[in-house]
Amino acid sequence: MIIINKPFIETRYGKVYLKAMVTDECNRLSETCYFVTEEDYGKYFCDEVSDAFVTGLLLPALQSNQDIIVKGAISEKLYFNLTITIVFILSKAFNYKPIKIIPEKIVRMNFNSFAVGTGCSLGIDSFSTIIKHTADDCPDSYKLSHLTYFNVGAHGEKETEMVNKSFQNDLIKIKEFAEEIKLPLITVESNLPVFFRSYSFNFNQTHVIRNMSMVLSLQKLFRKYIYSSGYPVSEIHLSSVDPTYMEGLLQPNLSTENTELIVGGPNLSRAEKANEICDNNLVQKHLYVCVKDLAINNKMNLGPWVKIQDVEKRNCSGCDKCLRTLLVFEIIGKLDEYNELFDLPKYHSLKKLFMAKVIGLKNKSFVFKDVYSLAIKNNYKISFLSRLLSLVYKFGIVNLFYKIVLKFKNNS
Ligand SMILES: [Zn+2]
Repeated sequence: MIIINKPFIETRYGKVYLKAMVTDECNRLSETCYFVTEEDYGKYFCDEVSDAFVTGLLLPALQSNQDIIVKGAISEKLYFNLTITIVFILSKAFNYKPIKIIPEKIVRMNFNSFAVGTGCSLGIDSFSTIIKHTADDCPDSYKLSHLTYFNVGAHGEKETEMVNKSFQNDLIKIKEFAEEIKLPLITVESNLPVFFRSYSFNFNQTHVIRNMSMVLSLQKLFRKYIYSSGYPVSEIHLSSVDPTYMEGLLQPNLSTENTELIVGGPNLSRAEKANEICDNNLVQKHLYVCVKDLAINNKMNLGPWVKIQDVEKRNCSGCDKCLRTLLVFEIIGKLDEYNELFDLPKYHSLKKLFMAKVIGLKNKSFVFKDVYSLAIKNNYKISFLSRLLSLVYKFGIVNLFYKIVLKFKNNS
């Protein structure tokens, strides 16, 4: 069993913590799980319900086939949707057995929440949501009042010190932007990743659930929370590799009486969003898509040709996300507008290889299909080399290919 004790709030050194003692019997782990924010927003933490903790620990409980004992209260709406829908969806998607959630109390609270929030990463999805939900034609009750920035695994999980450094570095960029558009920024951090250490998930498999648990810790604040879509909702299907496909099913069913979780931009792919926002001055000044730090902190192999350590521009221009964004900008004729934010010569030296990846993986992931479809639609010239090298990705012999390239490089 995973046992979640009653949450409580604690203030230490100017920070407010929402805490609960959690025991994971399978892994003999007994530790305090916490969410922490600044004093200004700590008053919106809710210790009346254990919703954030139950949601956050759902995937570990499912993988280890442990029921969740809640020694406190859970919101009625969340309890109903978790037990009827979410556990069913996740157990089918990951091929786990269903589990039970056993709360001490089921409650219907009214926190009079008032804010409309969204995550601010300065990426394409995030910008698309921010632009749409601050526009004059956005209905009032959907207009953004707050931005958030969460530290719950998006910067990596393996090297804690480096992860915190990456989070703080990125926070400087986010704060600059938030000040420019005059929206308050709330940062929330959590040690939730500690409870995933004994499990075989990568962050990509868990980000929707983890981020929503962060939002549910602040139910007294958020009336609505817009979580930017990764894929258009038309791509919806059960997936254990990338639960982003299931956002349209997960978000509504993780909502509570107080906080409505909404998928932002469900009608657009990332390439379509990039096309919509690429002329915006704020995007051209602040766009930050780079996952270099995540790659370094999680010791990911980006290939022998990518030197991600020596980066001069805001975006490394060598990681997958940088290359994907730049390829889209090139296809739609907007590359030069992003000369300040990206290292364009580096992009030009890598784009044929990246296009090979796009072609090789287009039938395996919507991320690549999206870029490929845009290239075909815009008659983008694809080189013979890209088509030839795409076989390396198509047949999954990337590591062998990397080894051959490295050997060739070392001999030359
Ligand atoms: Zn990058």
